[in-house]
Amino acid sequence: MTANAFAKRLHEELLRRGVTLVAVTKNQTLARLTPLYDAGLRDFGENRVQELLEKRAAFPDDVRWHLVGHLQTNKVKAIAPFVHLVHSIDSEKVLAELNHQGVAYDRVIDFLLQLHVAEEETKYGLRDNELIQLSSADVLSKYPNVRLRGLMAMATNTDNEQQVRGEFAKAHGAYQAMRQRLGGYANAKVDTLSMGMSGDYELAIECGSNMLRIGSLLFGG
Ligand SMILES: *Cc1c(COP(=O)(O)O)cnc(C)c1O
Repeated sequence: MTANAFAKRLHEELLRRGVTLVAVTKNQTLARLTPLYDAGLRDFGENRVQELLEKRAAFPDDVRWHLVGHLQTNKVKAIAPFVHLVHSIDSEKVLAELNHQGVAYDRVIDFLLQLHVAEEETKYGLRDNELIQLSSADVLSKYPNVRLRGLMAMATNTDNEQQVRGEFAKAHGAYQAMRQRLGGYANAKVDTLSMGMSGDYELAIECGSNMLRIGSLLFGG
């Protein structure tokens, strides 16, 4: 099966299951993105702002661009006019800047909070208490030009299925709690749980994910 046919089949199967496929195109040439676009995929994700800008310039406006990697405050302005969803907000500082640029460009920018659930030590992602604090109505009400849509999480890169399942379950629990807490709150619309990559996406769906970020599998390893 060609890469194009595989991507099309996966995309359509996921659509039927109510799951959005974000094709993570980092380190891929423009020529390798075209078959995905032709196969009907419209959600593309990058983890670096510079690459996002270059790829966006080469594709039609109907692509929805997702920023899935860590976002620095000084890079927010460049993506603010068009970004569809920022998956990786993990501080109030960068949230405040996203709101500031939302005001400047007269739009409301959708974002996810990144929750740290993996065993690996990384600087990125919020701890449980930080997540609760940052997703409180008190904090969100300061930022009317951004809208909280849910959570992003990355499991540990391991073959231990039980461990990955446990981490996804933790993210799903935090997501459900957030939905409940913010259910009646106008400045949030919590409906997106972004988890699952090439190696663990089936497990992620079982654990409640409704948005996958898949790279290598779409590009043949
Ligand atoms: C690279 C990347 C992915 C995709 O990973 P694959 O294993 O290639 O599917 C997903 N999310 C983030 C944040 C990434 O950086």
